[in-house]
Amino acid sequence: MSTETGLALAAGFFGGMFVTAVVLWFHERRSRLLLEDVSERLRHHEARTHALLRQSRDVLALVDAAGTVRYLSPAADRIFGRSSAAFAGSPLATLVHPDDRDRVLAALHSPARGPGPQDPLEFRVQHQDGHWVALDATLDDLRSDPGVEGIVLACRDISERRRIDGEVGDAREALRSVFEHSPNGLALIGLDGRLLRVNRTLAQLVGRAEDQLAGASALALTYPDDREAVQVRLHRLVTGDETSARIEQRFVHADGRPVWVAATVSLVRGSHQAPLHLVAQVEDMTERRASGARLAHQAVHDPLTGLPNRPRFVELLHQALATETPRGRVAVLFVDLDHFKVVNDSLGHAAGDRLLVAVADRLRTAIRPGDTLARFGGDEFTILCAGVPGETSALELAARVAGAVTSPVALAEGEVFVSASVGIALSTGDLETPETLLRNADAAMHRAKEQGRARSELYDANAHDQTIRNLRTGNDLHRALERGELRMHYQPIISLETGHISGFEALLRWQHPERGLVGPDEFISLAETTGLVVPIGSWALQDACRQAAAWHAQGAPITISVNLSPRQLAEPSLPGTVAAVLRQAQINPDTVWLEITESTLMRDAESAVTTLRALRGLGVHLSVDDFGTGYSSMSYLKRFPVEALKVDRSFVDGLGREPEDTAICTAVISLAHALGLRAVAEGVETPEQLAELRTLGCEMGQGYLFARPAPAERFGPRPDQQHWAGLASR
Ligand code: C2E
Ligand code: CA
Ligand code: CA
Repeated sequence: MSTETGLALAAGFFGGMFVTAVVLWFHERRSRLLLEDVSERLRHHEARTHALLRQSRDVLALVDAAGTVRYLSPAADRIFGRSSAAFAGSPLATLVHPDDRDRVLAALHSPARGPGPQDPLEFRVQHQDGHWVALDATLDDLRSDPGVEGIVLACRDISERRRIDGEVGDAREALRSVFEHSPNGLALIGLDGRLLRVNRTLAQLVGRAEDQLAGASALALTYPDDREAVQVRLHRLVTGDETSARIEQRFVHADGRPVWVAATVSLVRGSHQAPLHLVAQVEDMTERRASGARLAHQAVHDPLTGLPNRPRFVELLHQALATETPRGRVAVLFVDLDHFKVVNDSLGHAAGDRLLVAVADRLRTAIRPGDTLARFGGDEFTILCAGVPGETSALELAARVAGAVTSPVALAEGEVFVSASVGIALSTGDLETPETLLRNADAAMHRAKEQGRARSELYDANAHDQTIRNLRTGNDLHRALERGELRMHYQPIISLETGHISGFEALLRWQHPERGLVGPDEFISLAETTGLVVPIGSWALQDACRQAAAWHAQGAPITISVNLSPRQLAEPSLPGTVAAVLRQAQINPDTVWLEITESTLMRDAESAVTTLRALRGLGVHLSVDDFGTGYSSMSYLKRFPVEALKVDRSFVDGLGREPEDTAICTAVISLAHALGLRAVAEGVETPEQLAELRTLGCEMGQGYLFARPAPAERFGPRPDQQHWAGLASR
């Protein structure tokens, strides 16, 4: 085969590059002699070919049948950092990376396939500086070609591409890991609405496995009620109307419950802006929703009882008044606990709180389903009832409410007796504001307090007048003392053993110029608030002692009991005042009893101990009034120098009739005896009560059964000689 024919043949197969390789190989292999044969034209061609090969960024290699490199094009200098000539004569296998060697050899030694490009072969060849250069080689098997008898490899340096591939791979791996481990739920959603891929967080959020979700419709994951809205939003994204959307929606958990999420969905576009898929970032909103709901709840609820609070109540009252119908009126009940302060002060705030919670529970049971119970503040509760037919049903409701509260509450500290005063105001359909109704109910509640507590009062204009009257009373009371309008009435205290009057309780009255005889319940608490009770109390003590001294002068050895108010007890000057009164009346202190209510004593028990000791030091006796209505600490009771317990008349009232009252009377009387005190029963009205009291061993009794409080004259100069006929004189 002539050189020219060979070249033409090669050119036919490979085009410029390969031809050049072959030419060069000839050039090297065959000697100068051969070159002399080539024509002038060929020399030109060769020069061109050389130039081309120098320019080429690929390396062309010719490997003979034995696997030895016979020729490398100049690009090798640049790619491998060493001269192409340095490779010639080396077996190719020794140049390639050990890991690639087998594959390269296999390719070289595979049975001849004939000319034409074959599968690309990748392998690495070491650079002069030691690093490995990745090559992508195209093989052309010319072993059967008589002129060539070797394999031509066109090798391209793909190190850069490999590096980029590696980086892309790393980046992809990083992305995958971010996707998998994101604390947010992530999903790829196809344009058809199917989930292409979801991460674990998202799968866990709905209680399913990741692979269970792939392929499922994104809408199927959405809570049925939210599907339509979600679909609309997704559609807008796919059509490009929106680029990104934040969708607050519910998913359906595998167990069926809704799961609140916030999904931020955006459309991902590929080349030429074609929409590819949607990416959704899903945030679990359960906690935030719950805390939002909690906050909303807290804003309108009392944290202690969980009841609606004052602003909420007023708001609801507004609504109720706006929708009031002529047939059903709106009733507002104002419920105030009696003597709550005593519990709070004597047992502490924690006990007070527990008592309020217990009361709230009781009130809840007393109202109807549609009614609203609220904690208005402190120990005040309000109840809103719509559709109340009239006053009778309002009063029934109030009685039910007051009744629900009245019975002992068991606290860790012991049983506490609670009661409530309830005021009711009914709407008149006269465009009332919530404020007026509440004010009226409050006024009615105060009236219930004035009427002796533990009761309910309906507001009416008269009750309002009463409030105003109270204000006037306050002013009048100032002058009552000076004008000598106060009177003292006396109620006998009977020895239940003998039936004789052993003493009197002094009970205050006000001979009002317009209102007539006014009982202490109508003005004592007012006097207490204004402080007027201190001079009034002194006057009462003086008058009672003067009267007792008069009886003593007649030879009647009776005792005199005088009530002391909380305010008086708190006066540091009290023992001094009492001492002065005793001196002035020239009365034997041993005949004087001072009555202090249980709740007053326990209010500030520690300082009460001091005052009581000072009083007892004067020689007077002390008794605990209204015993059973407050909470007594037994340890204090032991420390107080008291000598009698007066069983509150509310318990005597049910004695022998109500098992609870009977039990309380029994307990109080035995307690008195256990502490070495005498028991005095108040409010004895029936012979049955008297019989029970005697059975229980109660020493003294006082009540309408024996006598009502009356002016001293009523009992004559020797009341001690009077004997109550119902009791045998012994
Ligand atoms: P208290 O000390 O518990 O007085 C007993 C009250 O029970 C008296 O009411 C008396 O009239 C009433 N009572 C007596 N027996 C019966 C009965 O069989 N049935 C009924 N239903 N009631 C009976 P009163 O006189 O209206 O006094 C009320 C309260 O006013 C007294 O309760 C006492 O806490 C206070 N008070 C009276 N006088 C004075 C006083 O001079 N100073 C002070 N600080 N408070 C006084
Ligand atoms: Ca009393
Ligand atoms: Ca009493």
